[in-house]
Amino acid sequence: MSGVRNGVKLARKFVIGNKFQGLPKLGDLKIVEESLPALGKGEILCKAEWLTVDPYMRAYSTFLKSGDAMPGAQVARVIASESPEFPEGSQVVGNFGWRDLTISKVPPPEKQSADSLYKMPDLKGLPDSYALGSCGMPGVTAYFGLHKICEPKAGDTLVVSSAAGAVGSLVGQFGKIAGCRVLGFAGTKDKLTWLKNDLGFDEVFNYKEVNVFKTLKEHAPKGVNCYFDNVGGEFAYNVMKNMAMFGRIAVCGAITVYNDNTGKPPLVPVDYFSLIYKNIRMEGFMVMRWNKEWFQGIEKVRDYIIQGKLKIQETQVNGFENMPQAFIDLLEGKNTGKMIIKA
Ligand code: NDP
Repeated sequence: MSGVRNGVKLARKFVIGNKFQGLPKLGDLKIVEESLPALGKGEILCKAEWLTVDPYMRAYSTFLKSGDAMPGAQVARVIASESPEFPEGSQVVGNFGWRDLTISKVPPPEKQSADSLYKMPDLKGLPDSYALGSCGMPGVTAYFGLHKICEPKAGDTLVVSSAAGAVGSLVGQFGKIAGCRVLGFAGTKDKLTWLKNDLGFDEVFNYKEVNVFKTLKEHAPKGVNCYFDNVGGEFAYNVMKNMAMFGRIAVCGAITVYNDNTGKPPLVPVDYFSLIYKNIRMEGFMVMRWNKEWFQGIEKVRDYIIQGKLKIQETQVNGFENMPQAFIDLLEGKNTGKMIIKA
């Protein structure tokens, strides 16, 4: 627990102990205490309520060294305030990292964003934790990534990898709303059952058990119009080989290589002939490019959930101190939907 020692408030935060080699290990991250100063003008003291682990943290960690803090967002309660805009008791979504108590300077309204902090969106009664999932960064990623890059149309065949994850499960459901035939790939039987029976995916496959190339040849005989790529690697190559004319590929993530240990840039084969003669558009993106439309994205997803058009699942872990295990579990596929931590 964070607390007070000799009258000084103490925060706990996770820092890199040993730089990750391959899949992170529990001992690679350590908790350190930090004394917090008195609040200055325009500052708020925030107590984490919900925290998140996301695959990008593993990719980003290659830029971190021993002693650096783990990055990440959280839903936090303001427990002391020198900012009239964020009074005591209000909630924020803050990019504070893996820590339980944080003092943050409140940026001017035009600078409040997912990069810094923003007021807790009005989720109209949905759980607060959704502000880190469907009604937060992963939701914005899925909504804009699919609609702006894949541009799905009714009758299109959409393929989604890591389909039972935070982003993928939303992408597939948006695809159904758009009238697509949605093929989802995930790594366990339970995930496939959820995708098919609860979320309405048309066809689902365990990528660990099937030949992806042959599966798509058989189940998308006219080709894949939209591919939302969460994984990269050989999987992406096999989808590329099965794209339809004028297909669109949204390159969102490459989790197949995040734990790569070779020290060399991870390369994915690209089938140039298919890209050229089928006029394929393949576009990478960072969700932050939709900073200006962030809250429109959140509201759209929130309203779909409230209207019953989207179903949400979370895998919840209790306790701040269990964040490293939750992170490892996420990278190993133990989550269905968003992996979330209750502080
Ligand atoms: P998920 O909730 O999808 O969790 C990660 C999942 O990846 C696991 O549950 C696991 O599911 C799957 N996985 C792990 N290893 C492999 C592998 N070798 N091959 C295939 N699947 C694997 O995470 P998110 O929804 O948060 O993120 C999905 C992707 O989107 C990630 O690549 C992430 O980096 C990216 N992303 C990109 C953003 C951007 O701005 N570009 C923003 C947000 C996310 P399974 O059981 O199916 O293997």
